Amino acid sequence: MAPSTSLGKITLPRQQRRLLQPLNSPKHKRATAAPPAGLLQELLGDAHPPKPRRASDETLAVHAGEKLGKGADEAATDSIATPIVSGTTHWFKSSEDLIAFKEGRRHSHEYGRYSNPTVKVLQDKISALERAEATLVTSSGMNAIVATLLALVPPGGHVVTTTDCYSEARAFIRDRLSKMGIRSTFIDLDDMESLKAVLDQNNVTLFYADSPTNPLLKCVDIRLVAELCHQKGALVCIDSTLASPINQKPLTLGADIVLHSATKYMAGHHDVIAGCISGSEALISEIRAWHHDLGGAISPNAAYMIIRGLKTMALRVEAHNRTALQIARLLECHPKIERVHYPGLESNPWHQVAKSQMTGYGGVVSFEVKSDLWGTMRFVDALEIPLIATSLGGCESLVQQPAVMSFWGKSDEEKAKNGIKDNLVRFSFGIEKFEDLRDDVLQALEKI
Ligand SMILES: *Cc1c(COP(=O)(O)O)cnc(C)c1O
Repeated sequence: MAPSTSLGKITLPRQQRRLLQPLNSPKHKRATAAPPAGLLQELLGDAHPPKPRRASDETLAVHAGEKLGKGADEAATDSIATPIVSGTTHWFKSSEDLIAFKEGRRHSHEYGRYSNPTVKVLQDKISALERAEATLVTSSGMNAIVATLLALVPPGGHVVTTTDCYSEARAFIRDRLSKMGIRSTFIDLDDMESLKAVLDQNNVTLFYADSPTNPLLKCVDIRLVAELCHQKGALVCIDSTLASPINQKPLTLGADIVLHSATKYMAGHHDVIAGCISGSEALISEIRAWHHDLGGAISPNAAYMIIRGLKTMALRVEAHNRTALQIARLLECHPKIERVHYPGLESNPWHQVAKSQMTGYGGVVSFEVKSDLWGTMRFVDALEIPLIATSLGGCESLVQQPAVMSFWGKSDEEKAKNGIKDNLVRFSFGIEKFEDLRDDVLQALEKI
């Protein structure tokens, strides 16, 4: 079953036992300690004495990985906030100390391009949230994508991807991997017959897809593709950026690798560019080796910004989910709206798949207004709260018209090929108050 690449034996996430119950691990002993008797007894009710249980994402997002202050690391301090270790190199006490490090008897970070204590805290936190054995944080989402593809697909390998995946990843697979002797096949993301046929007729190395996709929010049935791919020894990599680790955990659904543009929901404030890749230690160490060469290390300052962002991710994503779903429902019955794309809507073709693998549907809603290119621009320009900008997943609501933002000056044919209509609007709902956003959308629709 292990793919016949240079990766050797691959541990699939289904076999990753340890991290499925993060708070029961010795690492998190403090959090599972018996609660104080007396005062809390009443509030605790059934929960006392405590039963073994999984840590919730809300708790993991705050605490997981943060052991710099617990004396386990060279940078030990009792500061509650994880220190930003800005040094690029780490010193050894003696040659003997250095040799101990070389022989793996002593832990150190050696050099900043390979690892850093602050970055390690971030990686451990993401591993806990993704239920992964290991995580690599990179300087951008694209760096995560490129490092993953280069590491996992050898020359002569074959990538299957979808016509809907992130446009720059798609271009990289089509235009650059082909020059390295790597074949690629593009399929529709719900065309499982084509996937089966490609898997039957080729020695496929990797299936790569976004779920949900941008901007039309289509969803891949991750359990199904993992089953089909693993039967044929192919790995599965999911770009889960639009879901965030709160709404979807691809590794628990059978994917081998999950990656994110951490620039979006994870950092969450439109102020830092980063990426991350999670999976088994065997796969991540392959990618890590390539990443050392590519030199896409994140700065410790940026890593700290994401650690801080992650602490509120569960709260933020809950707000994004709630607002987006409410507005999607409202737009669906609005006379000036032709169509709404949101997997949380029962009428959406991907709703059943989304419901089976997601716990919320994210803050991005796309919709077609009943107008043309210019009428749609009038709607966008009449909005007062959201900013006209690309990107998503931050506190501020953003809006864009893909025909203008990404396809201005492109032919109708090119737009049609990408499913982009002139009247399509993509909203990334932020965490402002729902009623304010609702009223703003409704007043702007009147201006078309
Ligand atoms: C933004 C984005 C990327 C690229 O990430 P960067 O951090 O901008 O490099 C990749 N995939 C998806 C789905 C994205 O939204």
